[in-house]
Amino acid sequence: MAPPASSRRSRRPAPELLFGDLWPYDPAPETADPRIRAEYDLFIGGRFVPAADGTRFTSINPATERPLTELARGGPADVDAACRAAASAFPRWSRLPGAERGKYLFRLARLLQDRAREFAVAETMDNGKPIRETRDFDVPSAAAHFFYHAGWADKLAYLAPGRTVAPLGVVGQVIPWNFPLLMLAWKIAPALAAGNCVVLKPASNTPLTAVKLAELLQEAELPPGVVNIVTGPGATGAHLLAHPLVSKVAFTGSTEVGKVILRSVAGAGKRLTMELGGKAANIVFADAPLDQAVEGIVNGIFFNQGQVCCAGSRLLVQESVAERVVAQLRRRLRVLRVGDPLDKNTDLGAIVSREQRDVIRGYLRAGVAEGAELWQAPFRAPARGFYVPPAVFTGVTQSHRIAREEIFGPVLSVLTFRTVEEAVEKANNTPYGLSAGVWTDKGSLILRLATELRAGVVWANTFNKFDPASPFGGYKESGFGREGGRHGLLDYCAVA
Ligand code: NAD
Repeated sequence: MAPPASSRRSRRPAPELLFGDLWPYDPAPETADPRIRAEYDLFIGGRFVPAADGTRFTSINPATERPLTELARGGPADVDAACRAAASAFPRWSRLPGAERGKYLFRLARLLQDRAREFAVAETMDNGKPIRETRDFDVPSAAAHFFYHAGWADKLAYLAPGRTVAPLGVVGQVIPWNFPLLMLAWKIAPALAAGNCVVLKPASNTPLTAVKLAELLQEAELPPGVVNIVTGPGATGAHLLAHPLVSKVAFTGSTEVGKVILRSVAGAGKRLTMELGGKAANIVFADAPLDQAVEGIVNGIFFNQGQVCCAGSRLLVQESVAERVVAQLRRRLRVLRVGDPLDKNTDLGAIVSREQRDVIRGYLRAGVAEGAELWQAPFRAPARGFYVPPAVFTGVTQSHRIAREEIFGPVLSVLTFRTVEEAVEKANNTPYGLSAGVWTDKGSLILRLATELRAGVVWANTFNKFDPASPFGGYKESGFGREGGRHGLLDYCAVA
């Protein structure tokens, strides 16, 4: 028999004691072997070679602060050797029939799928992101990029019908630490499909999956020199992008470093693609399906601990539903699990480094000092590692630093608006223009905002959706050029 209504009510937990507190989970660690070697060399001309000056650096696991592996620190001589290897591989590689180049890309995609769990664990240990994300997003998306571009390799003539399409030569590629393997795939796959040769420098915080991928390149029997991987700090990247043999620069990273690179290569006649920072607006209208929108807000800013260039870090919510949305959001955030990234139940893992964790903490202090109200989800910090629980600022104004600057962490700034015009004006009031989200029931409003928002990607009633066939890139200080799709491939081609 059902209990009387009054006793049913009294058994319902208070809102602040919802599932996270009542349902403890047993640990569910991912146990696949990441097969990490104690040391990795540079990958130049198809072989692993130590740095010319013999120096190394250590990559640590940000979740435990323990060393993971030692890597060669590439210097100018190594960059030069890698660029020469790429230049000498270029004539044969670029003349290979497209279908043959495509076979190598298919092979790489399949090898990555074969070793997907191993790569997912390695990426999680090197970067701190949850295994759920590396397993379900980073590694499958990286494989999908190789598959997609394999399909293009023998169809380049269709990129620009009636015109000639040719590769550019040696491409210098520098990538950030937030999606190490995926950014590598975004860079290498289109470059190879178009017939270019590559020298790539991964971020010094997260070089592991790049050197592991070099093992796959050997296994795939990719001709020596077609892809070269040089690990090292920012200075190694600067040498690479300025190298005279590099005819195309493809950079993904911060706007600050992007500007330094633009100044350093100005006038050198190199083709450029810049994928830089962002401060995206996620706009929620009162008529939106609010439960779905709250999930989209969470995914928009807390995916990968908010270390995402296109993160929806500014929530613009229509005033009439703002209180409701914020209350619902806080309830949802209380049950997100922050902790060991190798645990399959973890939603938010570790921040990539101590420095980045301190940057985020600095922004939390700045927001409070400027008068915004900070709310953070309750959280028990693991004994070691760099963790920040989800944070939501309300009472934010457009002049606050937390509303203007890219934080690159799990920090959401909530602003409100009354009219469509105000929403557009506030969303566009940023030097960045990478992405935006719109939540509404009205198709016509979505179409209007898709044209009025100055952002490379506008998601409607969703957020953070990616596809290799869909071009991704920015406006304004978020950079130029596109990655993915036909547009991304054209950025690796000379069209005459
Ligand atoms: P970062 O700019 O500090 O470093 C990026 C890469 O550049 C690293 O490999 C670094 O070693 C190298 N580098 C540093 N100084 C250099 C120099 N002078 N010359 C050449 N290379 C140099 O960025 P990060 O902290 O690694 O990554 C976070 C940033 O990346 C954020 O701003 C984020 O928005 C951006 N990002 C953008 C996209 C996009 O597609 N638009 C994607 C991911 C990340």
